[in-house]
Amino acid sequence: MQKKSKLYEYVGIIHIHTTDSDGTKSHDDIIKLAQKYELDFLAFTDHMNLAHKNKEGWYNKTMVLIGYEHEDCSEKNHYLIFGLNKPLPDDLDAKTYVKRVKQVGGFGIIAHPDESRNFPKFPPLPWTEWDTDEFDGIEIWNHMSAWLEGIAEGNKLKYLLNPRKLLSSPPKHSLITWDKLNMKRRVVGIGSADAHGFRLKILGLFWRTIFPYSVELCSIRTHILTKRQFPRDFAPAKNQFFHTLRQCRVFISNHRWGDARGFRFWAESPEKYAIIGDKIKFHNDLWLFIEAPEKARIVLIKNGKKVDDAEGKFARFQAKTPGIYRVELWKNEKGWIFSNHIRVHKTSRKRNKKSQ
Ligand SMILES: [Zn+2]
Ligand SMILES: [Zn+2]
Repeated sequence: MQKKSKLYEYVGIIHIHTTDSDGTKSHDDIIKLAQKYELDFLAFTDHMNLAHKNKEGWYNKTMVLIGYEHEDCSEKNHYLIFGLNKPLPDDLDAKTYVKRVKQVGGFGIIAHPDESRNFPKFPPLPWTEWDTDEFDGIEIWNHMSAWLEGIAEGNKLKYLLNPRKLLSSPPKHSLITWDKLNMKRRVVGIGSADAHGFRLKILGLFWRTIFPYSVELCSIRTHILTKRQFPRDFAPAKNQFFHTLRQCRVFISNHRWGDARGFRFWAESPEKYAIIGDKIKFHNDLWLFIEAPEKARIVLIKNGKKVDDAEGKFARFQAKTPGIYRVELWKNEKGWIFSNHIRVHKTSRKRNKKSQ
């Protein structure tokens, strides 16, 4: 069997707004907070704005990336874009900006893909342009969007007063969309804060910050696993970061239910070893292993459907047929950890030279 390699884990927050658009704190203030929480990376994405692109770099152990959030003329089809020095023109349709990002070797993530809302003050901003397959990733859990999806006139006060309690799991429809995409090709699923530090006046009486940055940095986190440590030289470190995302060596967690650092999901046959994001050839003796830092209900999902589950800090399931496998870890009915897929394929990956 292939030798298991040591993995380096980097934990951080993707999708953060600052005072450059509709956020309420500066880059510097948010970076200081991230250092307090020992986060390894922050990915800022202000709306149509790259004014502080020069903030990119290492801040001690925290890697800071500056992208932006593009939207179309109808304010829909929000796309997190990295790798550009200035925003693309604001009159492009979604398919075109997805293409442009790909052409220049950038990285793009579809934000809040299937958003639906029941609250007229904040209409939904879903992704509608699915006639493209050139995006790199999608958000499977957007903190702000998941909260707004649950809010309606009747429960408004409950949502405003207990915003964190109501965040229980990624929206089912986002997971379905993501699994379907991955049946065709590799699309990384990331978790996002969509942090703004919004202040709202409640009942016209008092101001309250719904999700202060200090809460956003301790909720939906994205974990990245690499076989090589990120170098201190920023440019290659940044390349490695996006390369690892493309490989789907990623899981997401809600930090509120426990520190998920150390979670691992891997596959082993007598011949091969694979980690999250990898492909592995099917074998009659192929097993999937899960190791968690704390006890949880571990659910195995194959091709979008639950196929097995177990309780504990460790689980082992046989992969009985080829398909795409991922795991979800739940604590008291609250979603804690969501892995990207391991792809179990049927035939050997020798190139088929036959033209079609
Ligand atoms: Zn957005
Ligand atoms: Zn946003």
